[in-house]
Amino acid sequence: MTDTPRTALATYILPGISNSGPEHWQSYWERQVPQCQRIIQEEWERPRCADWVATLDRAVAKAESEVVFVAHSSACALVAHWAASAAPDLIARVRGALLVGPSDPEGPNYPAGPSGFAPMPRRPLPFPSIVVASQDDLYVGLEQARSYAEAWRSRFVDIGAAGHINSASNLGAWPAGYALLEELRNGAVQEAFVRQAIELARQARSAGNHPFGALLAVDGKTAVTAQNTVATDRDPTAHAETNLVALAIRQLSPEEIRRGVLYTSCEPCAMCVGKMYWAGIRSIVYALPAEELAALAGRDFLIPCAELFGRAEEHVTIAGPLLVNEAREVHLGFW
Ligand SMILES: [Zn+2]
Repeated sequence: MTDTPRTALATYILPGISNSGPEHWQSYWERQVPQCQRIIQEEWERPRCADWVATLDRAVAKAESEVVFVAHSSACALVAHWAASAAPDLIARVRGALLVGPSDPEGPNYPAGPSGFAPMPRRPLPFPSIVVASQDDLYVGLEQARSYAEAWRSRFVDIGAAGHINSASNLGAWPAGYALLEELRNGAVQEAFVRQAIELARQARSAGNHPFGALLAVDGKTAVTAQNTVATDRDPTAHAETNLVALAIRQLSPEEIRRGVLYTSCEPCAMCVGKMYWAGIRSIVYALPAEELAALAGRDFLIPCAELFGRAEEHVTIAGPLLVNEAREVHLGFW
């Protein structure tokens, strides 16, 4: 068993101008959640954006784990500026950003002190993100916030009339907002497992087999891993998932298999779907869609896994495609 990526995910609280007081939801989260850490800026009232970016850059460089940002107000612009300028190895540590009440630095009510936050960068953010906006925020209009979300490729959430979504909004610990953070954190965990499956595919290719890998996570931890062994076992049915399920049946209890989530580098074929179902797998996440594999490897016996699982008596949860570019990369030049 390896450590779950979830425990190794830090949450950086990024307050806006004037910092967030004790009644701000960011402060509630900081008090309640051990993985939360506030990034302290030297200047809170009249900051230069470049100084805030430098502080954040140092904090990410020092992170001992992957990071999720929780930004409010001007810190949303901070995240956008940081993402536009940070080194790729630092960006790779960030697994998501919750961007709440993204103050418009060019808006009529923006305070006079801060400098360098305008214009708001509009490049797509290189990590998953959610923008949360209110219908009566003095510092950013709803449509302006929506346009940021579109430019950044963020999910957009309109929470109705909630002012600037700050202490004055009286949200307490803001459970609805916290659920959005959990959504980002869970997505980050899912991606970490998918990356592990893609890494197994890479190892299979290095070993002379077809580039496919899979793993079963039980209770948030990797329980069993497998690779395709079609060439080395001289068995055309030795797909990563058939190998995985065979191992899981021997190593785990039926209850553990039912609780598990099967992560695979590619959408499973009809044979593997059948074996998974009869073994009790009820949740799968895949990276590369079968259609994409067919474009590289040729079309044969291609049935979307949702169509097959859809005929089953018991419901099977399917997520994917995910990290398609990374998943495609291990196939390039192979077929
Ligand atoms: Zn298969």
